[in-house]
Formats: sequence, structure tokens, C-alpha cells
Amino acid sequence: SPDRSSDPRAYDLDALRDRVLPHAEGEVDDSIPELADADPDLCGIALALPDGEVRGSAGSDVPFSIQSAVKPFLFALALVDTDGEALDRIGIEPTGEAFDAIKLESGTGRPPNPMVNAGAILTASLVDGEDVAARVARAHRGLSAFAGRTLEVDESVARNEHLLGDRNHALAHLMRAEGTLSVGADDAVEAYVRACAVLVDARTLAVMGATLALGGVNPVTGERVVPASVACDVVSVMATCGVYDGSGRWMRAVGVPAKSSVSGAIVLSAPGQLGAAVVSPPLDEQGTSVRGHLASEIFSRDLGLHVFAALCYRRRYDST
Ligand code: GLN
Repeated sequence: SPDRSSDPRAYDLDALRDRVLPHAEGEVDDSIPELADADPDLCGIALALPDGEVRGSAGSDVPFSIQSAVKPFLFALALVDTDGEALDRIGIEPTGEAFDAIKLESGTGRPPNPMVNAGAILTASLVDGEDVAARVARAHRGLSAFAGRTLEVDESVARNEHLLGDRNHALAHLMRAEGTLSVGADDAVEAYVRACAVLVDARTLAVMGATLALGGVNPVTGERVVPASVACDVVSVMATCGVYDGSGRWMRAVGVPAKSSVSGAIVLSAPGQLGAAVVSPPLDEQGTSVRGHLASEIFSRDLGLHVFAALCYRRRYDST
């Protein structure tokens, strides 16, 4: 009989949730009131499989703002809309610094990568549209295609992020000064914060992750959202930069390309296998959900998802 513990269709997500729930360490983000008010005991885990089945634990249908977990999807849309030119406009090297560091590539003035705020603000400006309203609408349509349903935007999150995001405005102005951002600084921040304010739940975010993991085709709707080459580029950057200055630790422990966010969500794309999402608001020092990191580590091992699985799980290399 098949081993229930290694089959994603039978894996017990509620048992995993119960196992990580006692880990109450970490701090809930307080950059805007809506995030500060998040329930610290929210915890949801979901998997989206290639046949379109979506499985979720308790808590996996509770909505939250997607925040930085939107960055891979925004980057995918910008790659499509610029026919790859986004790769010339934004670097793809990890920074080893916090998500909102005031830092651009020396020499070029480009943002270091699309997974940190500077890069995501530039990414939002590269999505097709002749003005900010058109770019916001295009991003919203594209994100909804990744999700397989029309997503809502939390208007008060968008407003407060625009009002209180001084570092994001500073980054946009710095990129204007360097000549790397070609739209108005305020418009670039507006498009970025409206993408961050999109509401998802763990189940929806898992479908978005699966769409990248499965080469750009949404497994629920069957729609091709982006070309496979774009999905490959995005997942590669998630692997190296997706967890900010915790990306190395994440790759060793979990081994699945992922993106973390201040709302406590993590989206994971296991290439060719599945998408997953975990949400729990308390964050560690790198801004990664504490329970999300732990749960991901456990299900990655149980389901054999580590990209270096051949080395990580086999004993044969130990015996010689
Ligand atoms: N909207 C947040 C910000 O720009 C997103 C950051 C994050 O999730 N790490 O500060």
C-alpha cells in the first residue's frame, strides 16, 4: 500500500498544523495597522497538485494581504510584457540584506534583484500599460490568472502602505535619480503597493505557486499564464533571492524555491511537482514566518521536495 506520509494526496496537513502551532515565537509586522492587527495564531497550510486538486489545513481559507509573496508573479508578468528586457533592467543577485535595504547595484544603479523592494518597485513599473491605472489593471488581471479567480484588493492596506511606506518612496526616488526607473516615483510605488494589497488565502497562494512550479500553466483552470521559460527564470530567482538574507539557510533546510512576506505568508514552487503555501504572521529576524519555515521544512522532507533530494535523502552516499 502507498506510504501516506510521502503522498501529497494523502498527507495530513491538519496534523502538521497542530505540530507547528505551539511555536509562538517571532514578531508580527507592525509597519501598517492592518498587519499589526493580524491574528498571531493564524496558521494555514495548503498544497496545489498537478491534477488541480487543492488541499488545505484548517486556516487555509482565511484571507490576508499577499505582500511580498506577490513579487515572483509580478516579475513573471514584467518578463512577459517586456519580452525579457526586465532581466536587463533588474539584477538577479542575492543581497544578503534586509528586504527594504536602501541599496542599488554599484555602477549600474539597477535594483539588486526583483525579490527585494527596490526590484519589485521597478518590476511593477515594467508591467504593460500607458499609465499607472492601466499597469495596475494589467497586474491585477495577471495575478488573478495565476490564482485562477478574480482577486480582491484590500483598499486600506494599499492606502496605508502608500502613506507609510517612506523607504519604498525613497527607493523609487533613488532609482529615478540613477535613471533606472522610467515612470514617476509615486506611480511606481502605487502600482507596487496595490499588488502587495491583493487578498489571497493559503489555498489560493498554493495555486499561484503551482502555476510557476508546473511551467506556467494553472493546474486548476488549465490556462497558460506565462511561458515555461518565464516560469523557469522566476523560480530560479526565487531559489537564490526569495527569502532575502535568509535564502541560504532556507535552501539548505527546505530546498524549495520560495518567497516570504511580511504578512507571514510563504509561497513555494517545487519544480515539476507542486505548489504550496503556508501562512502564520509571527516573523523571524529575516522576515520569514516562524511556523511557515518550520512547516515547510517538515513537509519538504516528508514529501521529498528538496531540489537536491538525490543528495539529501539517500543513504547510499553515507555508506561508502
Ligand atoms: N509591502 C511590504 C513593503 O513594501 C512588503 C514587504 C514584504 O512583504 N517583505 O514593505
